[in-house]
Amino acid sequence: MPLFNARLITNLPEDYSFSEPVPTQEPERQEYFTELCRNYVETNREKGINLTYAIVTFGCQMNVYDSERLKGVLEKMGYTEAEEREANLVIFNTCTVRENANQRLYGHLGQLKPRKKTDPNFMIGLCGCMMQEPKVVAKINESYPFVDFLFGTFNLHRLPELLFYRLQGNKRMIEVLPEPKEHVEIKGAKRKYPFKSGVNIMYGCNNFCTYCIVPYVRGRERSRTPEDILQDVRELSEEGVREIMLLGQNVNSYGTNYMEESKIVSENPDYGFPELLTDVCKIDGIHRVRFMTSHPKDLSDKLIDVIVRNPKVCRHIHLPVQIGSTRLLAAMNRRYTKEGYLALVDKIRTALPEVSLTTDIMVGFPGETEEDIDDTIDVVRRSGFDQAFTFIYSPRTGTPAATMEQIPEDIVKTRFQRLLDVVNEVAHERCGRFEGQTKEVLVEEENVQLEGYLTGRTEENILVHFPGNKELIGKFVPVKLSESKGFYYIGVCENPASAE
Ligand code: SAM
Ligand code: SF4
Repeated sequence: MPLFNARLITNLPEDYSFSEPVPTQEPERQEYFTELCRNYVETNREKGINLTYAIVTFGCQMNVYDSERLKGVLEKMGYTEAEEREANLVIFNTCTVRENANQRLYGHLGQLKPRKKTDPNFMIGLCGCMMQEPKVVAKINESYPFVDFLFGTFNLHRLPELLFYRLQGNKRMIEVLPEPKEHVEIKGAKRKYPFKSGVNIMYGCNNFCTYCIVPYVRGRERSRTPEDILQDVRELSEEGVREIMLLGQNVNSYGTNYMEESKIVSENPDYGFPELLTDVCKIDGIHRVRFMTSHPKDLSDKLIDVIVRNPKVCRHIHLPVQIGSTRLLAAMNRRYTKEGYLALVDKIRTALPEVSLTTDIMVGFPGETEEDIDDTIDVVRRSGFDQAFTFIYSPRTGTPAATMEQIPEDIVKTRFQRLLDVVNEVAHERCGRFEGQTKEVLVEEENVQLEGYLTGRTEENILVHFPGNKELIGKFVPVKLSESKGFYYIGVCENPASAE
């Protein structure tokens, strides 16, 4: 069995008879199937059955954003959102970056199985990165026959067609593509926050870090055209979105490759990420712009200059280091050194002294020694990270590092704790630097733990809880950061009337 999907896997019926010609082009084809699903939901409603859905998302910001778009599609069909334990349709948008994400999916499926026996309307769908691995599809086929449909990362937009065939009583529907044929954007997301949104600027990754499965399950890097992205941002602004997060596995290489009629064409040397960021900032109504993720090897002086000159760009850069040792960085194929990373941090801090820097760090990569952890701790202290997401290395079948000699679990755990103690100490110190200052906060929601409090974020992405009226949600307010609690602040909004 190939490790990654190399051929189209599908069992969609070819002989289904429709009363009228079905559109062959996208997005018209999926709009057609959306309407058919809508009729199904409506017929049920007339019988007194109100069909509901839940989407359970594992993994990164990109999956979160994809799920918001799938929710938009289901709402267009007339489904209403519900909790996972009550919904008639549960879709899992999966992640396979680490093995524990895979295990979480199987855990959820085991829990839902009994409902298949008691609820005739109950359906389970799977999509996302895990489905691009043939061994996963084989395991689902063998051990989880009650799953109703599954699809991969390259055909997210085809949910209506798959769902329609399944709702018609066909057997389990499967469609996984080996590579993208076209990219069809799904319009009309149902966002968690109406005032902020992610926007994908590119898909896939070309970097092939030796531990990482993303290039295999998300495909080669493809940038969206600037026209499409800017049009999306304009539309979001008109809908009332004030904060945009530009998303890509390595936004700094935006514009290197574009997708055109099933081929990836390169390259547009005159229009890269700095130019795109500048143009996004020019759009009226957008107040803050964030981006994620920046690969250190590609973060240019030009980009730093654009950030300095554009107050709309948030003073926060997520810059994954992975490990502090030059030797292991080479084994990981990261294409920068410890010294190169520290020089980049210096350059950023000189240009943007107030910036908040966050990172990803991995412990337990094959060949790691105590000295490599010392190097990493040195980088953490010298870079002064505001936050670091720390991961235990997880071997991914098919990646080069999975075939290397692995480090025993107990050693990894001890090293992980040693690193975590320093990460927490540094983050704690860094967070306190704004104590007593007043910062603009975008208010996100009511605080669930502290009654009468709201929660928001500064442009540095620092969480602030402060007493306030829920009318302020979605607005920018000045908040005095009275007390640092290590990773967040307790604040006071002295002038709620100035909210905008
Ligand atoms: N493209 C981003 C970059 O290069 O920084 C990161 C994308 S990846 C989904 C997010 C993080 O997961 C990585 O920065 C890395 O720290 C972690 N990660 C990736 N593969 C991993 C693995 N096999 N085991 C543990 N952590 C992993
Ligand atoms: Fe994975 Fe490296 Fe690509 Fe990030 S840059 S998605 S870590 S291969």
